Amino acid sequence: MFGFIKNSLSKTVEAIKTVAPKKKKTFTKDEIEDILLEADVSYELVEMILEQTYQDKISREILRSKLLSTLAHTSYTEPEDVKLPFVELIIGVNGAGKTTTISKLARKYKNDGKKVILGAGDTFRAAAIEQLTLWANKLEIPIVSSKQGHDSSAVAYDTIDSAKAKNLDHVIIDTAGRLHTQKNLAQELKKIHRICGKAHEGSPHRTVLIIDGTQGNSAIEQAKAFHDMVGIDGVIITKLDGTAKGGSVFSIAYALELPILYVGVGEQPDDLVEFDKYEFVDSLLDAIYDEEKEEQKTQKAQEPQVVQEEKEQLQESDNSKELLKEFLDAERLVLLKELTPTKMQVNYANTPVDTTIEFVNGKWRYC
Ligand code: GDP
Repeated sequence: MFGFIKNSLSKTVEAIKTVAPKKKKTFTKDEIEDILLEADVSYELVEMILEQTYQDKISREILRSKLLSTLAHTSYTEPEDVKLPFVELIIGVNGAGKTTTISKLARKYKNDGKKVILGAGDTFRAAAIEQLTLWANKLEIPIVSSKQGHDSSAVAYDTIDSAKAKNLDHVIIDTAGRLHTQKNLAQELKKIHRICGKAHEGSPHRTVLIIDGTQGNSAIEQAKAFHDMVGIDGVIITKLDGTAKGGSVFSIAYALELPILYVGVGEQPDDLVEFDKYEFVDSLLDAIYDEEKEEQKTQKAQEPQVVQEEKEQLQESDNSKELLKEFLDAERLVLLKELTPTKMQVNYANTPVDTTIEFVNGKWRYC
């Protein structure tokens, strides 16, 4: 799937090109400010990044670490010891891409060999029930639905009940994106949440908010409101391909501190990719900076043979790279620089503080 995120950022990259037409090795703070704002990173976040950057010339490496630190909470860990079926509740405003994303998810799970069932829980809109039913038929998976206006939590209950009776693995339940009032919506979502737990203890195992990527930063307040209503475990940002506001992903991630599970990169059933923060950041940086990767390659080639061998042995014997990633994630650190194969300069996520860690006796630790 590599390259999907990069391709979906093409409109954002076009926008960046209007303020930074020429790739360079370093940029001034003013230039970086223009670039980030043009990509729709929120003003507050841009100011914070620049305040925490003490260098005048901002290299790719520096900006990379700052941008990655804003994405510190985006990784998702599946809950352990889930008694199947795994129940997933999908919420979000109408038009955000809920139905499309539910079908993309259902297809993905089915392709992974899981037995899936859908629950048409948006009983407020007849069109939502019809559209989801069409998708279920197309994907040849069962769906539980009721008539418009019926109780949505009863649909959720019946879907889970059916999944349990038929030994299915995965339940995906749609919910209303709008009701007569915001209060009604909050009550309904809370009720569905509660009823899921009654139908199957511990569920819903994942409540996912669908965010329309074309809304940029204006989606943040809306997302916070949903989070307050029902508690979100992760978000999916849709329509990344159709927007020049790709930079808002940084502000959304930073403001919500929630995992980004997937991003929608098109209207086709396969256009849903796992969010990879490294690919996301590097795709944007590739559009701004001169090819640093080539330089790094040359640098590596010029390293003395013995250092290369030492590095390779270390990677093989100690699995240090794998453990490094785990350590960085667990401690919320961002890698700044490899000082030696066993010593790294790192940055505490979201702070300007740098420190070093080293690999000793098979473990990474602070120096
Ligand atoms: P719902 O009202 O939240 O259920 O939204 P829909 O699933 O009906 O989607 C609304 C529109 O957004 C439809 O035209 C979808 O094809 C489109 N859409 C959804 N996800 C994506 C995406 O990732 N990329 C693009 N380009 N369009 C999308």
